[in-house]
Amino acid sequence: MIDQFGRSVEYLRVSITDKCNLRCVYCMPLEGLPWLQRDELLSYEEIEQIVRVMAPMGLERLRITGGEPLVRRDVPELVRLLAAVPGIRDLSLSTNAVLLAEQADALKAAGISRLNVSLDSLQEDRVDRIARRPGSYPRIMEGLAAAEEVGFSPIKINVVLIKGENDDEIQDFAEITRKHPWHVRFIEMMPTGANLDLSAQQFISCTEVLHRVREIDKLEPVPGPFGNGPAEYYQFPGAPGTIGVITPMSHNYCDRCNRMRLTADGQLRPCLFGDLQTNLRDPLRAGEDLALHIRDTLEVKPERHYLIQGSDSGSGGLVALSQTGG
Ligand code: SAM
Ligand code: SF4
Repeated sequence: MIDQFGRSVEYLRVSITDKCNLRCVYCMPLEGLPWLQRDELLSYEEIEQIVRVMAPMGLERLRITGGEPLVRRDVPELVRLLAAVPGIRDLSLSTNAVLLAEQADALKAAGISRLNVSLDSLQEDRVDRIARRPGSYPRIMEGLAAAEEVGFSPIKINVVLIKGENDDEIQDFAEITRKHPWHVRFIEMMPTGANLDLSAQQFISCTEVLHRVREIDKLEPVPGPFGNGPAEYYQFPGAPGTIGVITPMSHNYCDRCNRMRLTADGQLRPCLFGDLQTNLRDPLRAGEDLALHIRDTLEVKPERHYLIQGSDSGSGGLVALSQTGG
């Protein structure tokens, strides 16, 4: 699947729910959002059918995301269905890890090889403040320990930085990469309808992050781990892990974009932001040929995102990344 700007799309992020067991301040409003109804959600079999159409077109890699994907029942069953699709050679999962400990084994056995875990602080009271579901921290830690035990590789830790809240932990997070073979990735906060004030007032750029990490030790640029997407990676000399930065706001990397997104209700989105999306669910349920709809979506994949700090004009009405899978 080659788009009009010559970018090859072989990666699909599949959101399987818009619901979440956390309420991260930069992501979802505390009161939640109007949730999708059950019949609006794609079933696991419908997701598999869409992937079966896209795989011969060039789709090779899938990431299961949400909302929080592990709040949906029997995710390993979906993983088994997707792992059996010819041409799919990589399956990964993004999770907040709260429900990971009890499912890590089954997810690995079903075919998930790589994990991204969101963790915005190493301090329990701060996780409570940022994720706004007190009591989550010990469960996240158990989830990470289980992930390591069952052998997911690589494990990436995603940290969204919020100035004045967790930016004094940049160096603590960086130090983790000397002890664990983890890839700690700092992500610049992106504006959405639900976080306009926060993202404008407490934004911190990854240029600043790298500056602070370099205060500890020398950093060498290194190639990323497998599954390398928009992040740029660095390493302390001799460290088993790496430090990555994802810079949607300060340095746009859209020219390397290799992905599309499928929302939990079956909208194929050519870009995380903007209002372009194609309803695949209804044509699928009507027995139509999806390949045409998928090609049309690829054709309109925009050259770049148009996010503007402090404004929701570029996000195309997107209230929260939990609605599209981030
Ligand atoms: N619940 C899972 C999790 O938290 O990993 C998967 C979905 S979450 C929407 C995917 C990623 O998006 C997480 O790493 C999260 O930190 C990130 N994210 C959410 N809102 C964001 C924002 N406004 N700016 C930057 N990253 C954001
Ligand atoms: Fe939930 Fe992930 Fe959004 Fe946090 S970032 S509220 S864990 S979907």
